[in-house]
Amino acid sequence: MHRVKDKACIVTGAALGIGRACALRLAEEGARLALFDVLDEAGAALAAELALLGASVRYWHVDVAREDSVRIAIEEAARHFGRIDVLVNNAGIAGTNRPTHEITEAEWDRVQAVNVKGVFFCVKHTIPHMKRAGGGSIINLSSIYGLVGAADVPPYHASKGAVRLMTKTDAMIYADAGIRCNSIHPGFIWTPMVEQHLRDSGAADMDQARADVARLHPLGRMGKPDDIAWAVVYLASDESGFITGSELVIDGGYTAH
Ligand code: NAP
Repeated sequence: MHRVKDKACIVTGAALGIGRACALRLAEEGARLALFDVLDEAGAALAAELALLGASVRYWHVDVAREDSVRIAIEEAARHFGRIDVLVNNAGIAGTNRPTHEITEAEWDRVQAVNVKGVFFCVKHTIPHMKRAGGGSIINLSSIYGLVGAADVPPYHASKGAVRLMTKTDAMIYADAGIRCNSIHPGFIWTPMVEQHLRDSGAADMDQARADVARLHPLGRMGKPDDIAWAVVYLASDESGFITGSELVIDGGYTAH
């Protein structure tokens, strides 16, 4: 119940999917939560749900691809909670799913803006608050697609590979300040993003498409948002105090071959 008691945690992309599960589990374990998303209705509804459970929580409309939006919300969250202890860089988009030679510059740039620059902006504006708090934990959502290739979503692969190394660089830069920085690499997790990805890939029979994707994982199933959320709780907590610069793979064995 108290694994992250009173820690002030920012979760980006908190309204749906993995981010929502992270917010729920962190709240259950005693965290105070700043929820950032562009989906205001779902974000505000989640904040209300967590408040009913007794959590200290507030929702901010934040587009992580816009530096001003990130800076203002982080300043407000730090003022509201008095400190920032944990940043979960979860907001991300899959982007276009066509072969590299058919992708426009704008499509490429949009994925990098959200998935890469979004992480940069959030880290940049959180670090001063973590330094003031005497340390912190930054958790970046990369992907199995930041570790190995597959014949789809080229801009997404590039972005998640970048997040993996940004994590290690920041782990080195901020270790002296007591700030830990780790990446998580999920396999396919059943969320609105993956459902949309399967539709965009032309799946006519969704049950069949889900079963096909599940078979890519030796454990024989797709992941659940909670499979990631519990790892986020661990990396946010002091239980992981000696872990920084690491990549936590949660993929049902996808990358084990
Ligand atoms: P999701 O279901 O699409 O939820 C992501 C949330 O982030 C949505 O509410 C989304 O809003 C929001 N968001 C998108 N762009 C944003 C922006 N610019 N600023 C703020 N919020 C934004 O995604 P998910 O599957 O939970 O994925 C969460 C993270 O895990 C992503 O970084 C993803 O790359 C990573 N991941 C997921 C999987 C998987 O299989 N699901 C696997 C590996 C890694 P919209 O719906 O409006 O876009």
